[in-house]
Amino acid sequence: MVDYKTIITDTFKTEILVVGGGAAGCIAATSAALEGKKTMLVERYGFLGGTSTYVLDTFYGFYIPGEKGRKVVGGIPDKVLNKLFDRKAAILRPNTYGAGTGVTYDPEILKVVWEELLTESGVNILLHSFVVDVVTDDKKVTGVIIVNKSGFFLVEADIIIDASGDADVVAKAGFPFDGIGGKEAVQSLTTTFRVLNVDYEAAKTFTKQQMWNWMKEANSTGKYRLPREEGSVHITTIPGVMATNMVRLSISDPTNISDLSKAEIEGRKQALDYFSFMKEYLPGYEKSELMNFSTQIGVRETRRVIGEYTLTKEDVLEARKFDDAILECGAPIEDHHNAAGTKWEYLDEGEVYQLPFRTLIPKDSKNLLVAGRCLSATHDAHASVRSIGQCMAMGQAAGTAAALAIQEGVELKSLDINLLQEKLTENGAMISLNKTFV
Ligand SMILES: Cc1cc2nc3c(=O)[nH]c(=O)nc-3n(C[C@H](O)[C@H](O)[C@H](O)COP(=O)(O)OP(=O)(O)OC[C@H]3O[C@@H](n4cnc5c(N)ncnc54)[C@H](O)[C@@H]3O)c2cc1C
Repeated sequence: MVDYKTIITDTFKTEILVVGGGAAGCIAATSAALEGKKTMLVERYGFLGGTSTYVLDTFYGFYIPGEKGRKVVGGIPDKVLNKLFDRKAAILRPNTYGAGTGVTYDPEILKVVWEELLTESGVNILLHSFVVDVVTDDKKVTGVIIVNKSGFFLVEADIIIDASGDADVVAKAGFPFDGIGGKEAVQSLTTTFRVLNVDYEAAKTFTKQQMWNWMKEANSTGKYRLPREEGSVHITTIPGVMATNMVRLSISDPTNISDLSKAEIEGRKQALDYFSFMKEYLPGYEKSELMNFSTQIGVRETRRVIGEYTLTKEDVLEARKFDDAILECGAPIEDHHNAAGTKWEYLDEGEVYQLPFRTLIPKDSKNLLVAGRCLSATHDAHASVRSIGQCMAMGQAAGTAAALAIQEGVELKSLDINLLQEKLTENGAMISLNKTFV
């Protein structure tokens, strides 16, 4: 660790610190603050939402796929849905296949919804601030060092929730992780883009399969370079605007900034190739224009912490249940690997598995939790549990657990799981438990 003492401008103190303002971090901070704890959230960009606002426009994971599709995430995440629907900034896209019914929203409005949710809950939000290091005392992370235009600052906290997606705090504090540097390649990266001025009536006349066949045909002409001969395009909340998920790039370590920089440049180049293909091949797109690229390239997977428990592929596909369950998930394993297709593996119809609280506790840590895509899961299990619905539900569990641990004066590992589950279900979390709370 660098000796920052000489350059630190000021010190902040908070009870709970959330690092990263993605979907998981925003819900974690909201949940902690709603439990009455002094909560601060630090985010490197000038807006909240992470991947949910800088790459995407659809929440999956709230509903499970299949003929028996049903809602499995509720509670604090529902406050986000309600705020979006109230503003007419979201639509349901019913789906029995893929990842199930999606909630497609306007990502610009979602930025405001996140801000509203956190400010109404009393979270102290610090934007434009990057966590660069940690301060540790044995297995305790007593604070983090942040840097922004105003200087270097120390933020001290009783409990830290690492919702940075990349497990930056966990890695800096020296706790173990898998993913990058592990035996399996991490999932591919995607620059998303939106196009406007699409004739939707004409665009409805072709199927996904036809589009994929046209991609193959376009590739065979040698005029195009479309690495993923799949991908999707879907309606948005804005008439005439369609959103894509097509670009595919693979790098072994998306936290290596030199490689990530090259991927950003290549991603936009590839996106333009896909857009030219769309204009030439897809009915309804003849007069379309490029509206925007994602603010940054979408990163699906980097560090996955090694937790007190690691969710496995068998846990997912066999729909396993746990005594310390904090959420449920019925999303398939959706692995965007480095080839033309995507690997899908489904749970049995109507089934869900549960995520244990222990997957949010980095092994041997004392006052640290993770929430969101850096949880403890194998590569395959991660490819199922990483949907935004589940990341939000993890946030609710992490924020609530942090608040309860402070209230009870216990370490996170020793927190009474019944107390946590009771509080989560009281606040709307949808977990089927074979117990009654007294
Ligand atoms: C291309 C792509 C398509 C996807 N499609 C879907 C989909 O359609 N539906 C769906 O539900 N899921 C989808 N996913 C998965 C889902 O979006 C993510 O798993 C989820 O959004 C992760 O949320 P998170 O909060 O854990 O992390 P992130 O969204 O990565 O948020 C992390 C936050 O931490 C901040 N941060 C990072 N490091 C630091 C630091 N050191 N200091 C301060 N701040 C920091 C970041 O700026 C960011 O705001 C997709 C993912 C990708 C990449």
